[in-house]
Amino acid sequence: MADCLFCKIINGEVPSTKVFENELVYAFRDIEPQAPEHIVIVPKKHIASTNDITAENSGYVAAIFEAAAQIAKQLGIDGDGYRIVNNCGKLGGQTVGHLHFHLMGGRSFGWPAG
Ligand code: 5GP
Ligand code: ZN
Repeated sequence: MADCLFCKIINGEVPSTKVFENELVYAFRDIEPQAPEHIVIVPKKHIASTNDITAENSGYVAAIFEAAAQIAKQLGIDGDGYRIVNNCGKLGGQTVGHLHFHLMGGRSFGWPAG
């Protein structure tokens, strides 16, 4: 999608610090980290939000969670634990209209989420 920030990050038009990539998934460091480790994991296909996940594209979501497990090991946060967050829509706090999951670790997280 021409005007999408995360599509531009995936195709290299906007620079990012890559931590993981495969055929379906791209993962990079968040520009405004909210934890010592804060990774954004996105599908390489433009899917606008969780509202747009279907039987046809849900393979990307499975691939994102497989990648999350691998990245957590890579960063050494798998043992202590971490949080994965998806913000959907206005009330969910989504600011970029390309489906993404935040993988955050290196500190403890409160519950319920704010
Ligand atoms: P959202 O608020 O939509 O759930 O998450 C969007 C995330 O993308 C935010 O955590 C924000 O810091 C991050 N972000 C926004 N613009 C950029 C950018 O240009 N580069 C990187 N690496 N992260 C970005
Ligand atoms: Zn996009």
